[in-house]
This record gives sequence, structure tokens and C-alpha cells, in this order.
Amino acid sequence: MPRRRALIIGGSLGGLFAAHLLRAAGWDVEVYERIGDDLAGRGAGLGTHDALRDMMARVGIDVVTPLGVATRAYVCRDRTGRAVHEIKLERVMSAWARLYRPLRDALPDANYHPGVTLARAETDARGATAVFADGTCISGDLLVGADGGRSTVRAQFLPEVKPQYAGYIAWRALVPEADMTPAAREGLCEQLTFCAPDGELSISYPVPARDGDIRPGRRDYNIVWYRPIDERQLADINTDASGHRHEQVPPPLIRPEVTAAVKADARALLPPAVADVFVAAEQPFFQAIFDLASPRLVFGRVALLGDAAFVARPHVGAGVTKAALDAACLADASAAMPDLDAALAYYDRERRRFGDWIVARSRDLGACIGLGAKATRALTPAYVMGEYATLPIDVKNWAADQSSVISNR
Ligand SMILES: Cc1cc2nc3c(=O)[nH]c(=O)nc-3n(C[C@H](O)[C@H](O)[C@H](O)COP(=O)(O)OP(=O)(O)OC[C@H]3O[C@@H](n4cnc5c(N)ncnc54)[C@H](O)[C@@H]3O)c2cc1C
Repeated sequence: MPRRRALIIGGSLGGLFAAHLLRAAGWDVEVYERIGDDLAGRGAGLGTHDALRDMMARVGIDVVTPLGVATRAYVCRDRTGRAVHEIKLERVMSAWARLYRPLRDALPDANYHPGVTLARAETDARGATAVFADGTCISGDLLVGADGGRSTVRAQFLPEVKPQYAGYIAWRALVPEADMTPAAREGLCEQLTFCAPDGELSISYPVPARDGDIRPGRRDYNIVWYRPIDERQLADINTDASGHRHEQVPPPLIRPEVTAAVKADARALLPPAVADVFVAAEQPFFQAIFDLASPRLVFGRVALLGDAAFVARPHVGAGVTKAALDAACLADASAAMPDLDAALAYYDRERRRFGDWIVARSRDLGACIGLGAKATRALTPAYVMGEYATLPIDVKNWAADQSSVISNR
């Protein structure tokens, strides 16, 4: 049988996992990524899970090296810096580049096409065609839409499904550990630090540096700070100094007064050591938080994967793990079933089940963020940390359920 060919739209983590796992299952793959530059510069911290580590190992990436920085406890501090709640729990916190770099380097350049934007997909009973913005058309047996939360592929097949704003944003800051004071390093770098000012939640932790270094003193420190704002305020901070309103303003275009205001709020609301780090960040940036669940993932020979299929609020911290497991399910189903349409029907059914779970679990946890009646749960340190502490186990069970489904199919 001739080798099947998959056209993967999106060369971020979901697309790269799909490329590696489909290749291992006997497919030829071509990855098309809109951004022309290397993506490793997208710096931000990521929580890891055993299933993610297993997926990296399956792709053949060295997992002897730690995937990230080990932390030993969850500690909630009040705005004076006093510890008010503590749970002993080990976690490994990683960074986007530490996953992206080896995944990208392990894929031949000949199969990765940067600076290429999909305009639309076409599909029929025998295959799919990618139509790119420059008019080029490429055909294959399968087109995988791994093109993220604002997926062009999903918008074409499910135009009525739109990301729903959750009512809050995540401000993010990443600072070299070397720029932190010795006291802040000592107080913050062995743990996940939580802080819950009124209706808000900040979580911060050490992560590998952009070059992958995980040695103390050479790592980065990452802050994620959830803050409720309404849609009018969101539109305002997404507007640059020239008056142009972006769907998601690029960090260098965030207006200086917006950055100055959030830094002043950090001083007023966060524990002093965390505020010092936030204020030291050259350019904190924000991401609006959305919920999105696709009611269908397969359209003929087109399949949605990763954030293109489901966008969960980041609280479960398993979006990348889910994208990797989506890719594994697609590859395993296509290897196990000679009939590709039957494999895709299986993928559609199974991944909706897992996607719906992560969206619901994250929405439930995020319900405590918001002011007054907008928060449907009280945001107490004990509640929020207890929830965060159970998540690694929930994700482990969720991933194990998927593995057993595939192997017992
Ligand atoms: C604040 C925050 C914290 C998070 N923390 C975690 C965490 O701790 N752990 C975790 O696992 N996950 C976390 N996530 C989620 C995680 O970032 C996503 O789930 C994950 O990046 C999804 O990967 P993806 O490849 O599906 O999509 P993306 O990373 O969005 O990639 C989509 C790619 O497609 C490309 N593209 C888009 N349109 C086109 C087109 N038309 N043609 C060609 N290319 C196109 C884009 O340029 C992009 O590179 C977090 C998310 C946020 C917002």
C-alpha cells in the first residue's frame, strides 16, 4: 500500500506531536506553519504531566534529562508575603521552548514549511487539499487542523463555534532568575507560589530558561496572574497606541500606560517578592481566557487537533498534554484500522470525550475568579490549592483512561 500523506496545518506543539506520531505510524507528513521565524522564542511556563513525559519518550526525545524544574510545595502567600496555606507536593514545571526545541529539531526541515498560511481546506471521499494564501494547493489523504484556538480550519467547518470569553485574562511575566534578589530567589524558587487577592489568582514558579538551562541561578521565573476584566476593558487593553484594536495585541504593542497600571497593581496586591519580579519584567503580556468545545472534530478527511478542537482554561495545565494525546489517538487509530474513515470516526468520538472533560474541569476551577456575583465559588486559599493539588492525579487518570481505551479497542 502506498504511504499515506498527512498535511498538518500549524507547526506548534500540537502540530509537531502529530507530525512525529503519524510518521511513526507510517505516514508521510508535511507541516505548514504561518509564522516564518523559529517559534522557540514564545516564552512561557508550562506545567507538565506524566503523560506528556511519556509522549516525549514515545517520540524518541531524551527523557533522562528532566523535563523542567522540580518544585516541592504549593504555598499561598498573602499580600504581605506571609505563608497562609501550604501543601507538600512535587511538580515539574517546564517551559514552552524546552518542549518545542527538541520536537522541532527532530523533524526534518524538508517536512516543515514555515511562513505558509492556510486559506481554506477542501475535502472529499478520497482525501483533502490545503489551499494556501498564495494560491498554492497541496493534496493528501488527511488534513490535520492543528492551527490553535483561532483555527482557520475550525472556522471553516464550524463557523458557529466561537471561543467564549471567560471574563478574565492572564497576565504573564517571565524574568531571569539572575535578576531576582537573593531573598526572592530563596523564598520563591523551590515552590509554586499562590496568591489570591480579591477575585484574582496569581501562580508563579521557576521554569527552564529559554536556552533550556535548569541550573539554579540560570533559570527563569514565571508568573501567571488571572484578573477579571469585562469585554469593554479587554477591548481597551487590546488597542495599541495608534488606536488599532487587535484581537490579541502583540506584547510590544501593549500601551505603556496599560503596563504601568498593571505593575502598580502588582505592587498593591501581590506578595512583595512576586511583585518585585512582575515589576522587573521587561514586557509583561496578557492572554484573554476562553472556553471552546467543538461538537465535531472530523469533516471528511479533515481532523481538528489540540487547541483547534478544544480550548480549556489554563487551570488544568494540560493543553499541551491533550494535544499530544490527540495526536497519539489519531496515529494509533490510523495504524490499527485499515479503513481511514473508521479510524477518523473513532478519533472524533474519543477525543470529544476527553476534550469535553478538560474544558469542563477547567471551567469549574476558574469559576472562583471574578468579582462579586461573577464568581460562583469562593476563592479561598484552601479551596483553590486543594483543587490545584488534585489536578495532576485527575490528569493521570484521564490519560490512563485514554491509553486503555486505545489498547483495548
Ligand atoms: C495562560 C496560559 C497558560 C497555559 N499553561 C499551560 C500549561 O501549564 N500546560 C499546558 O499543557 N498547557 C498550557 N496552556 C495551553 C497551551 O498553551 C495550549 O493548549 C497549546 O499551546 C496548544 O497547542 P496547539 O499546537 O494546539 O496550538 P497553538 O500553540 O496555538 O499553535 C497553533 C499554530 O498554528 C499556526 N497557525 C494558525 N493559523 C494558521 C494558518 N491559517 N496556517 C498555518 N498556520 C497557522 C499558529 O501560528 C501556531 O503556531 C496554557 C495556555 C495559556 C493561555
